[in-house]
Amino acid sequence: MSFLFDQVIFGPIQSRRFGISLGVNLLPTKHKICSFDCIYCECGWTEHPETDEYSPRQVIQEALKNKLSELQQKGIVPDNITWAGNGEPTLHPDFAAIVDDVITVKNQFFPTTQTTVLSNSTTLHRSDVFQALQRVDHNVMKLDAGTETMYQKINQCKVGKSLDQITEDLCRFQGALTLQTLFLRGHHHGVTIDNTNETEVAAWLKRVEKIAPKTVMLYPIDRATPAEHLQRMDRAVLETIATKVQQLGIETKIYE
Ligand code: SF4
Repeated sequence: MSFLFDQVIFGPIQSRRFGISLGVNLLPTKHKICSFDCIYCECGWTEHPETDEYSPRQVIQEALKNKLSELQQKGIVPDNITWAGNGEPTLHPDFAAIVDDVITVKNQFFPTTQTTVLSNSTTLHRSDVFQALQRVDHNVMKLDAGTETMYQKINQCKVGKSLDQITEDLCRFQGALTLQTLFLRGHHHGVTIDNTNETEVAAWLKRVEKIAPKTVMLYPIDRATPAEHLQRMDRAVLETIATKVQQLGIETKIYE
């Protein structure tokens, strides 16, 4: 079973990470579009790495205006507006312009509300995307593995990006980012998957140290996954890894 957002603007929801949070889904509402095919993705398998069905910029802007006006009338102030939804938001060809639209509209209604992008880090080579992300308050970027082999097993990249390329791109934030990592064990098509063992964690920590983010968010699996034989990590496993991140002098938090 997969979980898809059926609207362009969704919420607000009470988020563990972002408080009262409104979501902006730049992807189609009927299926997922992503440059990864993560084995744990709550939206299901990636059948389309590209599409021509993105919501038009104008539609997104109008939907956001209507929602923010509605919230203002109800006296609800969102803590955060998050670009997330059915896949990778930065794949939208007008992503940079939409970031500006959202910030402009948000400032008309709720100037103190923060903005956040959740991204899989595969589009940072695009200067329009990278520059747009500099205008967002919080960039939360995915880094699920320390070795190329584990990265390909977990994220199944569809666009030929290596883990080294992604790491180099993440370094360009010069520390002004949050990393998010999902830890899991299991098997898929007869292949063992485990990014929690000593070797994998050591390789991942090296990349974390090089990227030097403000903070690292650690997660277990939370919803049904498309690959069937995956194990949700218990808190003790995540705490052991969190301690190692803290030893690097980097703040970290577990979200269960
Ligand atoms: S990057 Fe996100 S949306 Fe894309 S496959 Fe992975 S979990 Fe799903």
